[in-house]
Amino acid sequence: MVEEIEKNDKKYYKCESCGFFYEGKEIAEKCQAWCDEHHSCSLEITKHAVKI
Ligand SMILES: [Zn+2]
Repeated sequence: MVEEIEKNDKKYYKCESCGFFYEGKEIAEKCQAWCDEHHSCSLEITKHAVKI
């Protein structure tokens, strides 16, 4: 499950497997799906991660 987080009036989405945050729900869900399947992160996906 992707977790929805609100911070500074912005919404972020967290991949619960790797703990990275994303501004887009779609990319967070992609990350979650990847992490669950491969038990590791995809660099192509995590490069879109943001720091909050
Ligand atoms: Zn992930």
